[in-house]
Amino acid sequence: MFSFGWLARWGHDPREPTRGRRHTAMPRRPARMRLAAAVVLACVGLSAAAFFAGLRIAAVVAVSAGGGELGIARIGRLLAQGAAVDGPLSGVLVAVDPGHGGPDRGACHLPSGLVEKEINLDMALRLERALKASGAQVFLTRRDDTFVSLDERARRANEQGADVFVSLHVNRFPSPECFGAQTFYLPESLEGRRLALLIQEELRQVYPPNYRQALPGNYRVLRGTAMPAALVEIGFVTNATDRDLMQQDDYREAVAAAIARAIIRFVRGESADQPA
Ligand SMILES: [Zn+2]
Repeated sequence: MFSFGWLARWGHDPREPTRGRRHTAMPRRPARMRLAAAVVLACVGLSAAAFFAGLRIAAVVAVSAGGGELGIARIGRLLAQGAAVDGPLSGVLVAVDPGHGGPDRGACHLPSGLVEKEINLDMALRLERALKASGAQVFLTRRDDTFVSLDERARRANEQGADVFVSLHVNRFPSPECFGAQTFYLPESLEGRRLALLIQEELRQVYPPNYRQALPGNYRVLRGTAMPAALVEIGFVTNATDRDLMQQDDYREAVAAAIARAIIRFVRGESADQPA
């Protein structure tokens, strides 16, 4: 049987002279022992609670994410924060990168008031809201109209230890016929490809005439990131229909929701139905 004998020994201060003082020292010992026992019991109770909370988090993440490197990172993040699993992206840290900023405006169509850096930031804030609604933690590489270099964007995402990286952009092309949102991934990244294909599949649901497939793209900001990464061009400023869509609040909201859905599916370990 478990013995508290060590506790009794601890309860006795060896420096305390016992001879001749026994009658005064004795009454102090039980009070000190009671305190020590209470501390031990509290520690055992808290450890057990933390252990079972940890077990629950690990079980939920293992079931929902299928384990793996991302699953382990999520478990660590949830345990570190003592956070509950209250959404499909709980414990997942997503880095959202609004392209361009400051003097770098990106692709623009000034007659319709479309400026890429502004669309990208607006989309990033919408995506942030959508991801947080699913329990994710979100890191934005910029939150205002400032210039951040491509290497710095990647470095910030790596420093945060993000699980997923999504860069948001607007496209342009000499031919005004080109339309449709399109997603890119690093050619050598299998997980980046899985992420990009899921995003593209969800984007096509938003605007069914969009026939575009996810494509490999050797983008510098993707090359610098240490996690699965994708770059989304939400439409062409050089196409009239895309310009109309990008001016609509509903379209922007739907695109943000589509990317968030794709990230949930990615974290669950899903793959797109129709590989590009
Ligand atoms: Zn761009």
